[in-house]
Amino acid sequence: MSRIVVLGGAESGVGAAVLAKVKGFDVFLSDKGKIADHYADTLREWKIPFEEGQHSEELILNADEVVKSPGIPTAAPMVQKLMQQGTPILSEIEFAGRYDTAKKICITGSNGKTTTTSLIYYLLQQAGLNVGLGGNIGKSYAFQVATEHFDYYVLEISSFQLDNVYDFRPDIAIITNITPDHLDRYNYNMEEYVKAKFRITRNLRPEDCFIFDSDDAITIDHLNKIIIQAKMLPFTQNGKVDQGAYLEGEKIVVKYEESESEIYLKELALGGKHNIYNSMAAALAAKAVDIDDETIRGSLATFEPIEHRLEPVLSIKDVLYINDSKATNVDSAWYALECQTKPVVWIVGGKDKGNDYSVLTDLVKEKVKAIVCLGVDNSKIHAAFEDIVGSENITDTGSADAAVKAASRFASPGDVVLLSPCCASFDLFSCYEDRGEQFKAAVRNL
Ligand code: ADP
Repeated sequence: MSRIVVLGGAESGVGAAVLAKVKGFDVFLSDKGKIADHYADTLREWKIPFEEGQHSEELILNADEVVKSPGIPTAAPMVQKLMQQGTPILSEIEFAGRYDTAKKICITGSNGKTTTTSLIYYLLQQAGLNVGLGGNIGKSYAFQVATEHFDYYVLEISSFQLDNVYDFRPDIAIITNITPDHLDRYNYNMEEYVKAKFRITRNLRPEDCFIFDSDDAITIDHLNKIIIQAKMLPFTQNGKVDQGAYLEGEKIVVKYEESESEIYLKELALGGKHNIYNSMAAALAAKAVDIDDETIRGSLATFEPIEHRLEPVLSIKDVLYINDSKATNVDSAWYALECQTKPVVWIVGGKDKGNDYSVLTDLVKEKVKAIVCLGVDNSKIHAAFEDIVGSENITDTGSADAAVKAASRFASPGDVVLLSPCCASFDLFSCYEDRGEQFKAAVRNL
């Protein structure tokens, strides 16, 4: 019996282990840290042997194949040992894809993955299709392949999950956009990060679709260097395309093969320039699986905003508080500021991932009246923006509660308080969800 060892005992690892068990492999799971109780319970329930707090070489190096969690870097010593002895290392996506015959719509990119994935999933559900949602979102893809049957999957796939993908083939691949992020995992080399994202296209065939942002210079630059064997479906807010999606006045035009559809911007449930892109990508995917125009328009109009992404929280004394805690890089905060139409009190800061704030200068000049820094080290934010808003309109805080109170003092009726931090959350919070929850609780307590 062939032996599969899974490294990492969280969502994707446990899912992969369950799938390996169902497919009759000799399975072992190893996690160097502590495995959360509910995952350990799942492993026991499926009678899968595992260890935590250590990696035992004698139980790992005898694997025929290893499924590695995306959180474990290639540089980890055990991964290096496996690579040296030539053991194939797969991602959970690669492993699960071997056993899945559903049509797969796969979304990657720097920003907008979750929004676009959720939009497409909603569209397919509204069309009455038997569809599963997975990847970086919700239940792992492998667990679902092991335990459910779907005709379609909509999968959000991070660049880390793509790193160990070889034969996996989406029917529709989407790259939302590519901007610098997570470069620490790619030797601070943008080219490596771009290539990781483009792994989503490596097995596309002429009958498959590739949907991409043709306004994104990094995407286009890379496309000029490679050949993709698929129907190319760009989306753009500048100019027209023969196949794909573009803007014409106040509407989106979607052209797919012989058919042409229109969607009015004022009918889109999600506001902001970035969500026009996300809606274009989603509409193109929906057209490619033959969903009718009425369902596409209706779904894009009734989709509910996702938590922590430009999520309106409350209006207090005519000041609207918005939670965009998921904006963990400069580009996503750019779009959050860009779509504001009222004076903004901006809550920003956290763990800086090597940000270049200069791209935000014009937007801050135009839209931001005061800045509340929410991070351990706010020096780069002061350096970038203090001269613009004035030293009396910038302050430092060390908790969501203090940040919301400070923001409420700066705000006047008609303003917006926007938490769109540009940074990771780990200096003061456990994760971006924790930051968003604490922000919302503080707003409710005002
Ligand atoms: P991801 O899953 O790629 O992190 P999300 O859909 O969760 O993306 O959105 C993350 C952040 O990026 C949010 O703050 C959102 O406002 C912003 N955003 C969403 N879509 C886009 C886009 N197409 N371009 C730039 N920023 C975006």
